[in-house]
Amino acid sequence: MAMKINDIQPEGLTLELNQKIDLFERGTASTAFTAILTIRPTSAEVLHIKGRVQADPELECSRCLKVFSYHVDTELEITLAPEKVLGTAAEHELVRSELDMEFYQGDEIEPLDLVKEQLLISIPMVPLHLPDCKGLCPVCGTDLNEMDCGCAKESHGEFGAFSALKDLLKK
Ligand SMILES: [Zn+2]
Ligand SMILES: [Zn+2]
Repeated sequence: MAMKINDIQPEGLTLELNQKIDLFERGTASTAFTAILTIRPTSAEVLHIKGRVQADPELECSRCLKVFSYHVDTELEITLAPEKVLGTAAEHELVRSELDMEFYQGDEIEPLDLVKEQLLISIPMVPLHLPDCKGLCPVCGTDLNEMDCGCAKESHGEFGAFSALKDLLKK
């Protein structure tokens, strides 16, 4: 799937991808995605890439551990330059000042890597299956979205302090 830079014509090309990738390095390509990438050479070996990526990766809710499907529809725009332009320190600084500049090694690029990277940055760091997911009871493990287990509220910090105060007032 890698593309040789030399094979990219001056007028550029548009790639339409519709396949599966191993988004979370689990050993199976289980995340289906569609992507349209327009690749245009701007100067010697520098490519301008614009596109849109859509997928519905399966994420695990960080509070209740439920696996849910998260919809991603994202646009990307990057400039890809050969790593060798990072020659001298002075050039390095120059290039680093350019926004959205990325680098590739060797004489080919892997469009799937761009898709993967774009999907990973579009996924929340702390995924929640619902914005107000109540999570699991820290005492008994019950899914609090489904039922209230009635465990002592002291296990929740803010309520703990409050109920301790209430107990104190009762005395
Ligand atoms: Zn949840
Ligand atoms: Zn409980």
